[in-house]
Amino acid sequence: MSIDFFGRKLNTYRANLHTHSTLSDGEFTPDQVTDLYSKAGYDVMCFTDHRKNSRISEIDPRGMLLLPGAELHPTGGRITISHLLCVDLPEDFDVSIAERGKLGENHMQPTIDAVNAAGGLCFFAHPYWCGFRAEEIAALHGLAGIEVYNTSTRYIGKAYNMHIWDDLCDMYCPLPALAVDDVHHAHDLFGGWTEICCEERTAECITAALRNGHYYATQGPRFKRLSYHDGIFEAEFTPVTTAIGMSNRCRGFCAEVPNFTGDGKTREITSCRFDVSGFFAPGKTSIKSTYLRLQIIDAQGRYAWSNPVAIP
Ligand SMILES: [Zn+2]
Ligand SMILES: [Zn+2]
Repeated sequence: MSIDFFGRKLNTYRANLHTHSTLSDGEFTPDQVTDLYSKAGYDVMCFTDHRKNSRISEIDPRGMLLLPGAELHPTGGRITISHLLCVDLPEDFDVSIAERGKLGENHMQPTIDAVNAAGGLCFFAHPYWCGFRAEEIAALHGLAGIEVYNTSTRYIGKAYNMHIWDDLCDMYCPLPALAVDDVHHAHDLFGGWTEICCEERTAECITAALRNGHYYATQGPRFKRLSYHDGIFEAEFTPVTTAIGMSNRCRGFCAEVPNFTGDGKTREITSCRFDVSGFFAPGKTSIKSTYLRLQIIDAQGRYAWSNPVAIP
C-alpha cells in the first residue's frame, strides 16, 4: 500500500520488529517463524532473541527483508532488568555489554550508547509490563522509540502502553512508537505490527525510516494520508468508529467517538481534520498543546497510532 506521509508519497511495508525463536525462548525455529510471517504477507522482520545476536545471513528470507537484532537486558536501577529492543544490530555486536551492570545499578545508558555506536536502533520494549515509569525512560538518551503495543504481554493485561507514551510526550519527550508481536508462541502471531513508510524495501531505506519516525503502529486500521500544515492536522484512513487527536494533559481533538455525542449510534468515518492552532479548552488557556498524535479504533476494537507531531 501507499501513503501520503506529510506531503511525501511513500510505500508502506508491514514489519514485525520483535521476534523470538528457538535461539532463546521462542517456540519456532528461525526458519519456521520466517515462514509464518512471510506467508502472512509481512515485508520486514527483525530477529530479537534474548541476549543473542541473530545470524540472518544463515536464514532464507522467503521474500522478506530480514534485519539482525537482539533483545538486551541491562540492569534498570529500581527495576531488576530492562528489556531493550535492538534493531539492525550488527551480527558481531558484543551483547555482553548489557550484562555488565550490577543489581540495583542502572546500566541502560551504556547499553543504549553501545547499540547506537554500532549503528543499531534501540527501542524501550513493553514498559508497562516491565513496570518502568515514564520519567525513567525520559531520562535516557538515544532511544529510537518505545513499544505502544506488544501482543505477547496482553495475557496479563499489559499490552498497551499509551499512558506511558503520553506521559513521555507531556515531558517534552515525544518518542515514536512501534506495535510488535514479541512472538514467542503461536498465540502471539499477527496481533500488532508497524507499517514503515519509505521509498523502497532496502535495509538502508527501512532503517532510515525507523530512525526518523517514518512509520505508524497498527492492529489493523491503515492510514492513507497524514498531514500537518499551518496548525491544521488532517488524516485519511480505512473506516473507523473512533478518531482522536491526543495531546497534552486535558487537551484533545475528537473527530468521532461512539456514544460520545449522546445518540448512542456508531458511525464509521474515514477522515478527520483538527485545527490545532485555535483550540483552547474553556478556562484552560494556559495549557498549550506541544504535540498531537492520532489514535483511531475500528468497529472490531483494533487500534492504529500515528507518531506524535510536534506543535511549535
Ligand atoms: Zn521483553
Ligand atoms: Zn521479547
